[in-house]
Amino acid sequence: MPWFKRVEKGINTPTEEKKETPDGLWYKCPECKTVTSMTEHRKNLKTCVKCNYHDRIGSKEYFAILFDDNKFTEMDEDMSSGDPLNFTDSKPYPQRTAETQRKTGLKDAVRTAYGKSGGRDITIACMDFAYIGGSMGSVVGEKIARAIDHARKTRTPFMMISKSGGARMMEAGFSLMQMAKTSAKLALLSEEKLPYISLLTDPTTGGVTASYAMLGDFNIAEPGSLIGFAGPRVIKETIGKDLPKGFQSAEFVLEHGFLDFIVDRKELKERLVDLLGMIMPAAEESNGTAKVQKAAKSS
Ligand SMILES: [Zn+2]
Repeated sequence: MPWFKRVEKGINTPTEEKKETPDGLWYKCPECKTVTSMTEHRKNLKTCVKCNYHDRIGSKEYFAILFDDNKFTEMDEDMSSGDPLNFTDSKPYPQRTAETQRKTGLKDAVRTAYGKSGGRDITIACMDFAYIGGSMGSVVGEKIARAIDHARKTRTPFMMISKSGGARMMEAGFSLMQMAKTSAKLALLSEEKLPYISLLTDPTTGGVTASYAMLGDFNIAEPGSLIGFAGPRVIKETIGKDLPKGFQSAEFVLEHGFLDFIVDRKELKERLVDLLGMIMPAAEESNGTAKVQKAAKSS
């Protein structure tokens, strides 16, 4: 005889009456299905505690990771796109813009800012996938171009964090022009011997890969990111062959020479500070020399 006998019938809760765990309390990793609390997940910079899967984050989180004490000055905060082509797909472009702005709290798919990282001045542009798939339109191009100009003017290193589905269809040709514009600005940055670090995150594709994302003095990526130009289906149809395993993952792209290294998000700031320490010694040395000369004069 069982030690407990259910006396009352109908004590089982029907499915529709079961209470759900409130949203946003738990995080379930899409790769290994490990469940962690949202607090723990956030503390781990939104990477899985078990398999290190890197969950997508936006400019708000990247700025918090990279800028000292999350202190930075944002540039061109209110720039938002017009509708140069009078474009309508399932809805008019201005309506889509307004809705996306309201939903995401963002003005467009990139935010640019300057501040200090590891005590060193830096200018950072970071894309947001939440805004129309991180698509590159005229505002994205213009803001990046202006951020590069700021880096040139202040002689600070420039970092770009890409996360994009490619060019913005609603601006067609205007989107494509941004590839040339940003590339030309990066050429000027390079001529002035200022470092450019490009971080490719999941996903970095299309016109973004074909322009600024791959032009870094250092092209680095987060583990497991999808990095490519055209999607795998299009490539498969074009070449008529099956694609190798792991095709277009950061690890595959690294092995084939497109990346310098892969960096774990939890080590991103440390690696960035180290890297800038190695490649920016000239400026520091000249500062050091100036200090020595000053000291010699005053003695
Ligand atoms: Zn996982």
